Amino acid sequence: MALLEGKTLLITGVLTDASIAFHAARLAQEEGANVVLTSFGKQLRLTEVIARRLPAPAPVVQLDVTNDEDLAALPERVREHADHLDGVVHSIGFAPQSVMGGNFLAGEWPDVATALHVSAYSLKSLATATLPLLTQGSGLVGLTFDARYAWPVYDWMGVAKAAFESTARYLARDLGPHGVRVNLVSAGPIRTTAAKSIPGFETMEAGWSDRAPLGWDLTTAEPAARAVVALLSDWFPATTGEIVHVDGGVHAMGQ
Ligand code: NAD
Repeated sequence: MALLEGKTLLITGVLTDASIAFHAARLAQEEGANVVLTSFGKQLRLTEVIARRLPAPAPVVQLDVTNDEDLAALPERVREHADHLDGVVHSIGFAPQSVMGGNFLAGEWPDVATALHVSAYSLKSLATATLPLLTQGSGLVGLTFDARYAWPVYDWMGVAKAAFESTARYLARDLGPHGVRVNLVSAGPIRTTAAKSIPGFETMEAGWSDRAPLGWDLTTAEPAARAVVALLSDWFPATTGEIVHVDGGVHAMGQ
């Protein structure tokens, strides 16, 4: 039996065919899942075009994860395509350029607040919005970039990821009794739109493949997406509040 046979998933964050979420959606469909995508605003049309490159049709519903009306309408919008969810993928990140790029001390609160709202608090927003649809044994999976360290140019996005990782642990605590598992994949650098929007991203990816015992390919989200699919499957039934590193092994190395 395929890994996600008969499961219905809501996958956020498909922007291009480089997006981690695109590969998660592709692999999930290949493993038997029915997939509903979300996108928002001007990007929605682009997501619909990119969705046509998936193995099977996937409807796209409107969701700006910072918009209360979108969050309130989400269950109804999903119900147009599916009566329940077995899994949700949070693949969303954004910070204004002013709070990344190595000028950490100049970060101003309104821009930091945007980073935290879109990139960290949104995990809670997405979880509570979809809870009415989530079944016993379902999974919520998000994407992080190892927030234990201060990286060269990640700056307030790194702080947002630390908040995101903590949010995942609190959600694991509070959603466990509802039968919902909450786990993160900590991916190494991948050249997506979000990554390329970080000023000086080259300094973060520099040397990654040399430091990684397994090596690292900056041009593909496939390994991270495979971990997302695995965590959504029935093969991690007793795992929650976990962070699975998909980074070639860099997280475990010293210099
Ligand atoms: P991406 O640019 O393809 O995806 C980012 C997505 O966030 C886009 O689809 C965008 O529409 C969405 N988004 C932004 N603001 C939103 C909002 N208000 N409401 C709803 N959606 C919104 O880039 P990606 O690299 O695939 O990013 C996906 C996730 O992976 C992010 O959380 C990112 O931080 C994380 N991540 C990326 C890398 C990397 O190197 N690319 C490494 C580790 C973790």
